Amino acid sequence: MSLHAELHRHLGGAIVPRIFLRFLHRTGHPLAEQYPEYEAFEEFFTRRRSSLEAYLELHTLAESVQQEETLAYFVSKLVRGAFVFESIAYLELRHTPYLRTDPSASEQWRIERMRDIVSCIGLAGHQPEYPLVFRQILCMHSRLPYEVNRAIVELAAAMPEYVCGVDLAGPDRLYGPRLGEFVELFQRARALGLKTTGHVFETPDGAYPELLPLLDRIGHGVQIPLHHPELLPRLAARRQCLEICPTTYLKTGTLQRLDELRTVFERCELEGVDIAVCTDNAGLHNVRLPFEFENLLIQDIIDFRQLRACQDAAFRHAFGWPHREPPRDLLSKVAGPHEALDHNARRHSPSARKDES
Ligand SMILES: [Zn+2]
Repeated sequence: MSLHAELHRHLGGAIVPRIFLRFLHRTGHPLAEQYPEYEAFEEFFTRRRSSLEAYLELHTLAESVQQEETLAYFVSKLVRGAFVFESIAYLELRHTPYLRTDPSASEQWRIERMRDIVSCIGLAGHQPEYPLVFRQILCMHSRLPYEVNRAIVELAAAMPEYVCGVDLAGPDRLYGPRLGEFVELFQRARALGLKTTGHVFETPDGAYPELLPLLDRIGHGVQIPLHHPELLPRLAARRQCLEICPTTYLKTGTLQRLDELRTVFERCELEGVDIAVCTDNAGLHNVRLPFEFENLLIQDIIDFRQLRACQDAAFRHAFGWPHREPPRDLLSKVAGPHEALDHNARRHSPSARKDES
């Protein structure tokens, strides 16, 4: 079994449409009336959008449903699914805690509630029967005021038991007029010892080279190898990793065809820049992590060697993976690869079963 580390998944897009619709029906949500049948809802949920901004509206919808009182339900479901169906050993789930609080309350009250949101998600993600390593990334958001984003950074640093880093999300065309603010916030995060990632170079509007030196990983960054390859050597020197989420680029209209990613993998490998393959919104897309890899393989965009390199890179660049090596290396230390195989073969051979009985 292949084990995965998932480094880029949003809580707002992590629930598969069938579970989401069932919840809407059960709670009498107005959308349930609009979509009495699953097929129409799935089409609405997973169809291609014309832009990143149109695509992000789905997050707003999910956030309105995933509030404090329902978060534990959704998180427990998604952790179970990640462990059982995706063989995910390490999961970083990202969200903007402020957007999970009551929108009718005051800004100060909402800021104070963020701590409870992070605890609630952390507790719901800890399920001994599905023992993946679960960490949160808190997202600053380009639509939120400075004070709220600052509070998000401070909160992330104050809750290391649950949070492993911070991110910048939201429509990327809004970063520009506030770039100085975001530079300062990332500097603050790093001064507090936090790991950083940010949604940059995802679309042509998101090209902010000023932010790059402040990031440990780059959320997407797909435009860099495609249109700014001259930046790659600096990424390699800083040991930064791109979080590439293949299906997203089709859904947002950033790419027309998946095979445009072949250039991304080739150029990054040539320049020594690691890539972690991620889902971004496994539920919204209805594409789980192993299928992101499979799609890349069967369309001949990467080969198996590159697949394994990306899997290992994901563990190496994880902000909160508690080991120095990926799980495959850990296993081979416990028992050499042949021993492990022999052991499995023995366990499953008819004679071994006879011996054990
Ligand atoms: Zn994202």
